[in-house]
Amino acid sequence: MIILVVNAGSSSLKYQLINMEDESVIAKGNCDRIGIDGHLAHKTSDGRKIDEDCNFPTHTEAFMKLVEVLTSGEGKVIDSMDEISAVGHRIVQGADVFDKSVLVTDEIIEKIDELRELAPVHNHAHALALRACKSVIPANVPQVVVFDTAFHQTMPPKAFMFGLPYEDYENLHVRKYGFHGTSHRFVSAALAEAMGKDAKDLKIISCHLGNGSSITAVNAGKSVDTTMGFTPLDGVIMGTRSGAVDPSAVTFVADKHGFTPAQMSDYMNKKSGFLGLSGIGSDNRDIQEAALNGNAKAQLVCDMLTYEIQKYIGAFAAAMNGVDAILFTGGIGENSWEVREAACSNMEYFGIKIDYALNKTIRGKLQKISTPDSKVEVWVVPTNEELLIARDTLALISK
Ligand code: ADP
Repeated sequence: MIILVVNAGSSSLKYQLINMEDESVIAKGNCDRIGIDGHLAHKTSDGRKIDEDCNFPTHTEAFMKLVEVLTSGEGKVIDSMDEISAVGHRIVQGADVFDKSVLVTDEIIEKIDELRELAPVHNHAHALALRACKSVIPANVPQVVVFDTAFHQTMPPKAFMFGLPYEDYENLHVRKYGFHGTSHRFVSAALAEAMGKDAKDLKIISCHLGNGSSITAVNAGKSVDTTMGFTPLDGVIMGTRSGAVDPSAVTFVADKHGFTPAQMSDYMNKKSGFLGLSGIGSDNRDIQEAALNGNAKAQLVCDMLTYEIQKYIGAFAAAMNGVDAILFTGGIGENSWEVREAACSNMEYFGIKIDYALNKTIRGKLQKISTPDSKVEVWVVPTNEELLIARDTLALISK
């Protein structure tokens, strides 16, 4: 059984074709620069690569190209789209409307589009891609949507409410939703399995650290609190996003610079974080290298990131009245031993002790890095959001 996983943005359409017999990737790629000009990058598991300039006025042409490259020419991996059992789509914002993955209908697409006010960059693009996909992929191929927010729908009101007037929660739906839910769900389940325990018996703090970062408290398999909020801007500092800032600083800066709300959003989402603080860039590798070479602002970024991770570990250990395991995932969490080491140092009070030598050798693989006498287990757990989307899709179409 083959499942196509799609992650569509406003100008890109990333995809993976997954063989569910052994959960292996058959091909993957990206139809990029939609609405600008168009470019396809396609790779097959047997090493064939296609890089081609295309014409993608809309998502529809990008899907048509995707069908073409999968079924013909140099990149061909299947004879026809009939070999695909279903398509699974990643959706950023499901708000409090969707607490699990669902089969796509016209009403579901409408609902996702209606939620666009809560995720202006993403949800409308998802709706466009869903409609385009329906028009290009054979009608008998079911489609499923998997939401980044769904895993966090188990948070209690005391965790998801803001201290703003209640009517703005009721009328404007302003609350914490949390993101990266597909990743936190995947890695926390993978960790329970690796530990040989039932997720129901575990209190896990899941640190997804990448260009975007979020930390989630997972108690008995359920998200009970998370650092991202109404949008993916809240929480720890990120590549270009500020993370949590005193709201009064936001209104003050907007006033001083004469920013409109959209300009202020741009400032906090695209010009802040590692980039804004260091003036070097948004990539953690560049920041680490600059810090090693004595750049004080880059060192400040490293110190802020690890200090914030430690504070959230403390907060979530309090929220769950304990912690059995901490996991690191995402581009930084899986690859940067430096960030893991700094985040797990001086945490003896919590019973956290890692094997420093072992930690240095681990990149992108499932591995326990805590010492045998550490009260809290610490793990590196590679994430795989596409695989979880494919598994959810398979589960829904098998029903
Ligand atoms: P996204 O959030 O866009 O999915 P990723 O999860 O791929 O991003 O994470 C990208 C981040 O991971 C970048 O900041 C990059 O510098 C960092 N990263 C990747 N490899 C390493 C490494 N070997 N050491 C330190 N940081 C790394």
